[in-house]
Order: sequence, then structure tokens, then C-alpha cells
Amino acid sequence: MLYVGVDIGGMSLKIGIVNEKGEILSRFVMVFDKQSKQEEMIVALANNIKNHIKEEKYNINDIKGIGVSCAGVVNTKTGYCDYSANLNWNKLDLCGILTKYTGLEAKITNDANAAILGEVKFGIAKNYHNVVMLTLGTGVGGGLYLDDKLFEGNEGKGAELGHSLFIYNGRKCACGLKGCFEKYASASALIYDTKEAMKLDKDSLMWKYCENDIEKVNGKTAFECAKNGDPSAKKVVDQYISYLSYGILNFCNIFRPEVVILGGGVSNQKEYLTNPIKEILKENNYGYKNTPPVEVLIAKLGNDAGIIGAAALLMD
Ligand SMILES: [Zn+2]
Repeated sequence: MLYVGVDIGGMSLKIGIVNEKGEILSRFVMVFDKQSKQEEMIVALANNIKNHIKEEKYNINDIKGIGVSCAGVVNTKTGYCDYSANLNWNKLDLCGILTKYTGLEAKITNDANAAILGEVKFGIAKNYHNVVMLTLGTGVGGGLYLDDKLFEGNEGKGAELGHSLFIYNGRKCACGLKGCFEKYASASALIYDTKEAMKLDKDSLMWKYCENDIEKVNGKTAFECAKNGDPSAKKVVDQYISYLSYGILNFCNIFRPEVVILGGGVSNQKEYLTNPIKEILKENNYGYKNTPPVEVLIAKLGNDAGIIGAAALLMD
């Protein structure tokens, strides 16, 4: 059997034909014409999928269906994308239109859920039964795989770990709450804290690293300068790792996973990030003497997680 995996991100739209081993056999990218109506965008996607199947000479009978990973608020029951800020979508019958124009079954989930499904089926989390995944990017995406099943919650709108309350009445989040976890543990939060630290320390190596232009600060600035011994950078990194670790500790105590998977830009720091997190988890794990330790690993599928995870929605 083959599967179509569609990854609708904030910036890009990637489509792949995936086999049962999670290998992408062929792929293409497309751009939505943002001038056209939301329904027309999906008709164009459906037609491109049909053309690709034809051009690459796949037998349509070998294709089980279309899985969609969508950055936005989706409804897994109706197959709708209820809301996407980037694409200006509202109550869009995404799966219905795909099925109507391709004749293929279609399923949808959000991007964080697709990523964890991909990692569990074909990536770093294979053979684990309880997995928490955090994607550390602009925000913090959350995914839960519990007792061998993707946990999605009502309408697939659960697992928003990034919007769990971390500091009561803390930093204002775009979701309306104050003090969400992602305001402390995302790459954006790390960049914010890096800039604040630089303003307080004009001699910091971080200024040199970003050529005296504070707008050039990115998620690597503090980490790279901390590795070179800069005290202010080290403070930023220690604080960031602390925020992240105690947030993860909450999820460990609630869900008791065997493993926590980290993805997104910040996860490129690899052991520099995972080793101190593991230490903090070990020291603070509830009932630590009799509770199994939690492994912390870096996601493996990278940019292909969306396509592969979306395709996996159709797999048994
Ligand atoms: Zn929030």
C-alpha cells in the first residue's frame, strides 16, 4: 500500500508518496495562491496530487488515502481546518474537498500530532509506548502518544502542551493567557531572553557574535557564546534549560512517558540540551527512587516528519 502525505506548514506546502516503511518515494512542493478562495486552494492541491500520481505512474488502486498535517486548528472528526492564521482559513472542509476531487479517503491532524506519529512509527521513538514530544520553534508544539495510541482529545484539539500554564500571571501569550509554557521554552522565548541579557551586558560576547546588531540574535546566539565561556550567555542558557526541564517534569508527572522527544530549531543543540534536562528530571522525578527514569531524545525525521506522520494517519 502507498499513502499520500501532505504537510501544510506556515510557510510551505509539501506533498510526498510514502510506502509502508515510511520511505518517501517521490515528492513535490506547491505554493497556495493566496489570492484565491480557501476552497479553490484545496481543489488545486487535489488536482496536483492527481497529476503527480499520474506522472509518476502510480496505480491509484495502490493508494490507501491522503493524510494531512496542518499547522492550525483542525477538527479530526469533521476533517475541517477550523482556523489557520497564516493561510486565513476558516471552517474549511479540507478533507471533504480532497476526497471529492481525488476519490481518496482523507484524514487530518495538526502538525505536532503528525510529527509525533512519524517519530513513533518510523523515527527515534520506535518501540516506545508512552511518548511526549515538544517542538521548540516559534511556539512550543505538543504531541502525546499514550498507551500505544496517538492522543488527540476532543475534535483532535488536545495536547496543546505549549499553552499549559507555567507561570501564573506571567508573560502574555498570543492565545490570550498570561504565563503559557511556550512563552518561556520556545525558540522565540530564548531569543527574547538573549536580547534582554545583552541589553544588560554591553561587554557580552553575544554582541560580537551578532555583529553588534541585536536583530541578528537567533536561537543559537546564547548557546554558542555560552560554549565559549560568556557568563551572560551561560545565564541565559541555564535559565532556558531550567524552564524547559521543569515544564517537561510536569508532563512526566502527568503522563509518565518512557521518553520525551525534542524537535524544532533549538533541538539542534543535541546533548548540550538533553544532558542537563535528564539531570533535572532525574533529581526531581516524582517518587524518583521507584519511578523509572525518563529518556530525552532528539527527533530524527526533521523536515520530513510532517509528510511521513501525515501518511501514517492512514496506516493501521
Ligand atoms: Zn498560550
